[in-house]
Parts: sequence; structure tokens; C-alpha cells
Amino acid sequence: MSKKLYFCNTCRCNISKIEDLLFVEESKRGFCSEKCIIEFFKPYMVSFENEEIQVRESLDIEPGEVDLHLFQDKKLFEEVLYNAQEVRVEKNDLYEEFYTHIHPIHDGMYYILVCSYYEGEPAFVFFKTITKNMDLLKFYQKGNLLISDEGIKASSEEEEDDEKLLKDISLPAEVIEQVDLKKSEYLADLLNRRSESDIPFEQYGLYDDYITLTLDEPDDEFHTEDDAGDKIYTFIKTFQKRGEDFYYVVVCLNVKIPNSEDRALLPVISFPSTDDELYKFYAIGQKKNTRVTN
Ligand SMILES: [Zn+2]
Repeated sequence: MSKKLYFCNTCRCNISKIEDLLFVEESKRGFCSEKCIIEFFKPYMVSFENEEIQVRESLDIEPGEVDLHLFQDKKLFEEVLYNAQEVRVEKNDLYEEFYTHIHPIHDGMYYILVCSYYEGEPAFVFFKTITKNMDLLKFYQKGNLLISDEGIKASSEEEEDDEKLLKDISLPAEVIEQVDLKKSEYLADLLNRRSESDIPFEQYGLYDDYITLTLDEPDDEFHTEDDAGDKIYTFIKTFQKRGEDFYYVVVCLNVKIPNSEDRALLPVISFPSTDDELYKFYAIGQKKNTRVTN
């Protein structure tokens, strides 16, 4: 008996070869046809539409706010799908991912769409809307920020609070000195190990937004002690930028604040990489099960 059994998730028809299954997410849900994909995701689409109606009502936005003909503009749609200025991702408790693309168009209007991704590319669009209303825009600016080309104005207040928090922490001079020393040591070592084909050092600054994203929700977290006996916590997360996978690594020093019971986690180095060897070098120590705790 063959256990290589594949069925369409909607109509349950048998599909003999896995190559014939259609996927629109990273999950194992496969389909026999476009029609079955749409039928399966219909309840999702209806939910997103109902949500929009409710939010528009609560914000008192007039129904004819934007010209519906804009949705027929295929070029515009593709621009938002493949070149959005802001891309966010939200995961539910089943680890299903919903990506939100936000793109300014003209006359103060924003095109917003929610879609799934498969193999690093937008795959199935659940929902789209266009609005001039900044509160409606704000409603959709949820989830982890993956791409932000120019930083769209109505960013959430939470992010501003985070920044304030970082500035408020003042550290004793001896700790700052210790971290600075560590930084130059670790950076020299990283530059030594970096492969020529990896993301260039000069471009690291373009990836600074990924520090917070990695620390907030890492895929992996490792605790170890370095040669100097210092506690090192390493956080790693995989991202996609324009369809290409890369790791973001943040190495932190877990340091005791003198004359206090407190410890602080201070970033020593952080960098993007596409090099599996480099990943292996930094993914060492006691692995914390981050997926469960989050
Ligand atoms: Zn089917």
C-alpha cells in the first residue's frame, strides 16, 4: 500500500503527484485548483471585509471615500504587491501568517492589502482597501515591521515608547567600557569570519530595524559563556526581503549592573547574513525554546 496520499484541502479529491498540488502558504495545505483555493479561503476573505466595514463605521468614514476604479488598475496592484513601502506580518496561534502591505498612492491615499506568502513571495490576497483616513491606516499598521522604505507617518505609538525606554537607561561608566571593549572584539571576529559573498559590511546599517524585531520575537535564542567568562545571549531570526531569505543575528552581553541586583542585556553586535556557516558559528550554547514561551 502506498502511503503517498495527497488530497485537496477543499474538495478532498485525490492528487497522485505532489507536484500537482497548489500551495499558497508555508503550511502543508495543498489544493487541486484555483477554484478550491478561493473556496477554502472564502471565510477569511469575508471576515476581513466585515472587519473593514465595522472599523469604517466606527470611524465615521463616508462610504464613497475613494474611487473604486483604482482596484482595476493592475499595474498599481502589482506595485503594492511586490514593491510596497511598508510590509508587516502577524502570526496567529496556529502560526498562520498574514502579511499586510501598505503603499502610498496619490492625493494622500494609501493602498492596503492583506495576503499570504509562499516561498518568500506574496501568494494569495485575502483583502484590499484604499483609504485617506489615517486612523483606518493605523488600524492596519499592526504586526512586525518587515519593510519600511521611508517610514509611513502614522506609525504606532508603542514604537515611540520603546525608543524612549532605551534612551532612559543610564549605565555606569565601567559597564559602558566593558561593552565597548566587547563590541570591538566581536566585530573584529565577525569581519574575519564574514564570507565575501555575504551581505557587505557597509550595508549593515540598512538592516538596523531588524534588531528590535529579532529581540522581540526571535526564532532562536542561545545562552552561552564566552572565553572571557561573560554571559552571552544570542538571538536569531529569519526574514525575507524582496523574496530573499536572510538571518538577523543579535549578540548580547548579559551584564550585572554594579551595586544593584539588576542585570541588563546589552547588544554587542548585530548583523544580517545569508551565510549558513556564519549562522552555525553564532547558533551555539543552550538553546531556549522561544516558540513556546512566545
Ligand atoms: Zn479541490
